[in-house]
Amino acid sequence: MSTRRHLLQTLLAAGCAPALLSARAASANHFALGLASGTPRADRVVLWTRLVGPALPAQCPVQWELAEDEGFSRIAAHGEETALAEEAHSVHAEPQGLRPDRWYWYRFRALGQQSPVGRTRTAPAADAPVGRLRLAIASCQRWDHGRYAAWGDVAGQDLDLLLFLGDYIYESPASANPDAPRRHQGGTCHSLADYRARYAQYKGDPQLQAAHAAAPWINVWDDHEVANDFAGLVGQDLAPDFPARRAAAMQAYWEHMPFPRAWKPRDNELRLYHRLDWGSLARILTLDDRQWRDPQACPKPGRAGSNTVNRRDCPALDQPQRSLLGAAQEQWLARQWDRERPWNLLAQQTLMARCDHGSANSGERYWTDGWDGYPAARRRLLQDMQAAQARNPVVLGGDVHAHYVADLKQDFERDDAPVIASEFCGSSISSEGLPQARLDGLRARNPHLQLARSDVRGYVLFELQAGQLQARLRQVDDPWDAASPVRDLARYVVEAGRPGPQPA
Ligand code: FE
Ligand code: CA
Repeated sequence: MSTRRHLLQTLLAAGCAPALLSARAASANHFALGLASGTPRADRVVLWTRLVGPALPAQCPVQWELAEDEGFSRIAAHGEETALAEEAHSVHAEPQGLRPDRWYWYRFRALGQQSPVGRTRTAPAADAPVGRLRLAIASCQRWDHGRYAAWGDVAGQDLDLLLFLGDYIYESPASANPDAPRRHQGGTCHSLADYRARYAQYKGDPQLQAAHAAAPWINVWDDHEVANDFAGLVGQDLAPDFPARRAAAMQAYWEHMPFPRAWKPRDNELRLYHRLDWGSLARILTLDDRQWRDPQACPKPGRAGSNTVNRRDCPALDQPQRSLLGAAQEQWLARQWDRERPWNLLAQQTLMARCDHGSANSGERYWTDGWDGYPAARRRLLQDMQAAQARNPVVLGGDVHAHYVADLKQDFERDDAPVIASEFCGSSISSEGLPQARLDGLRARNPHLQLARSDVRGYVLFELQAGQLQARLRQVDDPWDAASPVRDLARYVVEAGRPGPQPA
């Protein structure tokens, strides 16, 4: 891969003198997990890396540099962090006082080695006029379901921002087939060491590294960063030690994301939800629908977690007090909607549009892990959004391993109910989806779903201007080919002032 070549060139150019290092240390690339940047603001951005290699000291000084040019002739900020064994030798450098709305380049140096170079940027000042924003949403990169051609495509898109909406790792064990082209190393993740090793495996991928090195990311998690279908402090297997497992997973998650130090988990909590204003153009709101949710309604006997249930057999589904976000986050969100900026982007985990899996015989059937499992909470969110007169709300999601394009309504049961928001739920980078035949069968009972495609892997590209949002649903031709072509599956636009996506 060109990234590997680039990394080698960088190391050679930096004059790493192998003769001065022990043979073992010289053979280890301490920056083998690449680098990342994220959580951008108008005056700051977080720079991330993690040192790896045998026999790293418990405390390891790491120098970082941020420059206004790719050749590092105009240094804007520099500093030193200490990578600690107790934080998996991760680095979260936080240059501050930067200029808004501009690109920077960054690199690290540690143990006599120079990292590759990453490109990042600050957000525009909150009140600054902004003509355009290019971003992408992506999610669900299960290692043993495919290679990462989608990330290679992302890296070449000249994005301002990438929103990663969950399932960065999967906690599941190695597949049974020893000949599978990619397998998880190790068993199911339970301990901090397990989760750290899993992140290291995923982050070794050169195309994922290239996507990180190309633009700042905003990250939120879903369930698989911890365990399938978890809800608050309850795991689907009802294991009594789940809170300790979640704490380990949360620590490893913070260590491996470009999050500020101030976000380091405390008391088994990580404040992930936040707001980012992209100048005068857009408000971006990110949610965490895992950490504070009520358990899923009507689970399978002896278990917690998701189920697919008939509405009439599961009265708990419609209990008004059940929440997907938790009371504090719901109240926070109700106050964030913007009536000034042309666009409100709600970056959250899963499909928000109603998706009735039933038939004339069965009546309504819902999957309880997504918003369909929390219909009263969805109604509250959409009511709050309307009451706040949010301008052009667009809901972005992942989780379901399918491209969905949908009209959002207060009342999905009435075909003539007004469309109040637009939804784009992006397919997975690699994780396999449901059979397409099942999604084809959904359209009759869910006419607000304009597109539903579980048979393609990919992500969604957006370009926003004040009057229009353009969306391109990207499709990977061959998920097992790291060099696969990636193309547009479909294009949509949302016109400001007219809720609902339209085919372009
Ligand atoms: Fe997933
Ligand atoms: Ca998920």
